[in-house]
Amino acid sequence: MLYISTRGGIDAIPFEDAVMMGLADDGGLLLPETIPALAVKEIDDLAFLPYPELAFRIISLFAEDVPRPILKDLIDRSYATFSHPEITPVVKKGDIYILELFHGPTLAFKDLALQFLGNLFEYLVEKRHGRMNILGATSGDTGSAAIYGLRGKKNINIFILHPHGKVSPIQQLQMTTVTDANVFNLAVRGTFDDGQRIVKEIFGDLDFKSRHSLASINSINWARLVAQIVYYFYAWGRVHRESSCREVVFSVPTGNFGDVFAGWLAKKMGLPIAKLVIATNENNILTRFVLHGDYSLEKVIETLSPSMDIQVASNFERYLYFIYHGDAARVRSTLEDFRKTGAISFAGDERRTIAEDFTSCSVDREETIATIRDFHRQNGYLLDPHTAVGVRAGTRTTAPGVPLICLATAHPAKFSAAVRRAVGLDPERPPSLRGIENRPERCHLIDAEAEKIKEFIAQNAL
Ligand SMILES: *Cc1c(COP(=O)(O)O)cnc(C)c1O
Repeated sequence: MLYISTRGGIDAIPFEDAVMMGLADDGGLLLPETIPALAVKEIDDLAFLPYPELAFRIISLFAEDVPRPILKDLIDRSYATFSHPEITPVVKKGDIYILELFHGPTLAFKDLALQFLGNLFEYLVEKRHGRMNILGATSGDTGSAAIYGLRGKKNINIFILHPHGKVSPIQQLQMTTVTDANVFNLAVRGTFDDGQRIVKEIFGDLDFKSRHSLASINSINWARLVAQIVYYFYAWGRVHRESSCREVVFSVPTGNFGDVFAGWLAKKMGLPIAKLVIATNENNILTRFVLHGDYSLEKVIETLSPSMDIQVASNFERYLYFIYHGDAARVRSTLEDFRKTGAISFAGDERRTIAEDFTSCSVDREETIATIRDFHRQNGYLLDPHTAVGVRAGTRTTAPGVPLICLATAHPAKFSAAVRRAVGLDPERPPSLRGIENRPERCHLIDAEAEKIKEFIAQNAL
């Protein structure tokens, strides 16, 4: 299987090269030339496998050039770090199935992809006798999941910028208590936007970038999406067995459109998904897109579900390529216009295609709190605010009769302030967070200036 760019400007490349390239060299996103379609019998056989075996079978379809025993070993090691024997268990609460994606080392679903990507990078760097310095800015979840994915990896250093004093205490500690020699936490005297701007500026210095083999770990790497397809199959198998229904609905708390796009890929592969619910908070550009064909930028609003406080969804371009039937020139010109106007509109057949795959609902602060409270009262189960957005959007848009599977993207203990407001108590901390305040920390305070940060990287890069 070979990979092409949504903007049509690169020659087709195999999986390993696609992973190393990250963002396509022409500025587009990488996609497989065709999405593999599975027969009904194959899907039924796959869906009952244990998680690591299922992951091996699904990822194999997309990563044909990685030798099988190596791929198997990478996958087994990636999911051995999870604290639950099922990796992503499905629990039934009332009428709703909750797919728990928070049993990884940092208690959020990004671990499912980043544990795998970290091992894959290590393998590829070693195979190519290279080295890699990863640079990224975070407002919370991505940074800690990336750090846990890369800690202790050979020939890779990771530099993560976070805004000093502006991430939640737990999120900060999850990053700074990783004291491996290859991990560099930089607390920037500034905002998250300063961090992002500086990272962009540094990547824009092509000479500096190539001198230090800089790489990024953001949500557009194809390997992350592939790893996320797996749990849609896993959950479908468990729910199908219990309910004997074939068609299900998934509700997905959405920010960068990565997680729900992985669900869309599973649907295209043949998994019987009636609908994917795009659950958004007050930052509802994707809801306006699905319901009104209106993809237009507004200001980012701070909400109770900060990992979804996003306007431009970085994976959206991949879906756009499919809506435009693979017309890369049209993707390119539409995105050029979007940069000027901040809006794309859809009509007619495009609207119909979108409505076949997705429905959507935006959930505000009050509803999020009410959902955490009501769900706890009815089921004795605590939802984190991101998951609560998904549960609310799912129940609002789904008729009874079709099983509803809601993706639980974070453990409630990571967002205890919102949970406390809803139910008046703190969620119990899982073992990985107990006593985290007393662990040694390693972090470097630094000014929000690209030059200072480049100097730091130059001194500490491999
Ligand atoms: C990143 C994140 C999301 C959003 O996922 P996308 O792939 O960006 O759509 C939702 N919930 C949590 C807890 C996250 O960390």
